[in-house]
Amino acid sequence: TGHTCSVTCKRVWTSREGAEYMWWNNVETKPGVGYPHHWEDQERYKGGWEKRGNKIQPKLFSKIKLLFALFYNPVLPTIEDYYEPWTYKYEELFSSNQIEDQPTAKPVSLITGKYIDIKSGPNWDDDLSGSPEYAKKDINFKNISTDKLNMLFELENLIYFYIPRICNHCLNPTCVAVCPSGAIYKRGEDGIVLVNQDKCRGWRMCVSGCPYKKVYYNWNSGKSEKCLLCYPRIESGLPPVCFHSCVGRIRYLGVILYDAEKIENVIKAELNNIVDSQIELILDPFHPDVISNAKKSGISDYIIEYAQMSPVYKLIKKYRLALPLHPEFRTLPMVFYIPPILPSKFKSKNDFYEIEEKLFSDMEEPRLPIEFLSNLFSCGDNNKIKQIYRKLLAIRIYRRWQTVGDVSQDDKNKFLKKANLNEDSAIELYNLLAKANLRYRFKIPSTLMENI
Ligand code: SF4
Repeated sequence: TGHTCSVTCKRVWTSREGAEYMWWNNVETKPGVGYPHHWEDQERYKGGWEKRGNKIQPKLFSKIKLLFALFYNPVLPTIEDYYEPWTYKYEELFSSNQIEDQPTAKPVSLITGKYIDIKSGPNWDDDLSGSPEYAKKDINFKNISTDKLNMLFELENLIYFYIPRICNHCLNPTCVAVCPSGAIYKRGEDGIVLVNQDKCRGWRMCVSGCPYKKVYYNWNSGKSEKCLLCYPRIESGLPPVCFHSCVGRIRYLGVILYDAEKIENVIKAELNNIVDSQIELILDPFHPDVISNAKKSGISDYIIEYAQMSPVYKLIKKYRLALPLHPEFRTLPMVFYIPPILPSKFKSKNDFYEIEEKLFSDMEEPRLPIEFLSNLFSCGDNNKIKQIYRKLLAIRIYRRWQTVGDVSQDDKNKFLKKANLNEDSAIELYNLLAKANLRYRFKIPSTLMENI
């Protein structure tokens, strides 16, 4: 990770007093405890929703308890879970008396102005640094045997990947539901979730309620702040800065049409059905009924055209390649992830094809257990991750067949069939995943007056 997304976001939005520790966009190393530490652990933070019988309510409190909790909210991350922002006393380098050692610039807190001992910072556990302390405590290792875990932490088996995080601009956001001031709202026109700074009274219920910990409290202004998906850019048809500046070109953005009437069913779905029903919500923008109903609801032809061009529609719905992060929180996050394909445990025999063939039989044994990924993206359903792996692998095999020629026609067809893809779809996905330039990755309808 180059952290270009995080850095551009910080330069644009959070380089102000009170916002130093805010990372509206951050990139976490997995396995790891993330930022703020242990944000995924809802036994600790009580974020998201819980289902009780056929009812659903914020895990934080029932509404009545919420009133009593206004003056005391015990489930906030502490400054240790984030970190105390600091700078260095650079002037001490120049004003130091003559001493035997080289003078140093000591760290001082940006909050108190006093000298501090730095104990933690942003991306403290980047690339598995301090892994026994951090990575081993990753909550997604639940249900994974100690043997497997010990093996994973042997030096030659260590492996990690990155998970970039912004506010998910959820369809069922707990941050909105628990705000006593009605300051947080989801914009009708594009679904962006925003905090009205005039209405915010700084109760910080949103910080607790958001299971992704993507609302931050500004200690200087006394109000909450969060990712606003760079809405001034979106309105002009431009991607948010984190999307634009990603050197890995991993981000895609586009319009999706969804059936709002079904949201209630989805948030109440059984755990093993949440992901499917969330994806079912997304409608086919080419279907005549969907088009006519969209028009009846006041959606313009212009927006419908963009929904038809949407790269995210293809990735999430048409090819079922992307999954929501921690769908069990029931907020219906609108950011989706393609699970990373990870090396498996066996040793290579210099032959690419044999390795890939074996990858399937050994899929239960990648270096990072598949359960880890299913705990992250599919409520523990390993099959969902395997289905995606099959597709990613089939695209590779197809391209290998096309360009290198050491894969037989039969084998190529076998892999495509197993992944439920045909040659056209393999080409479409290859173009979308490997080749798409900025114009294809982002299909954002400008809402400037001339386009409405
Ligand atoms: Fe709200 Fe964003 Fe958290 Fe979802 S991810 S609950 S929209 S702050």
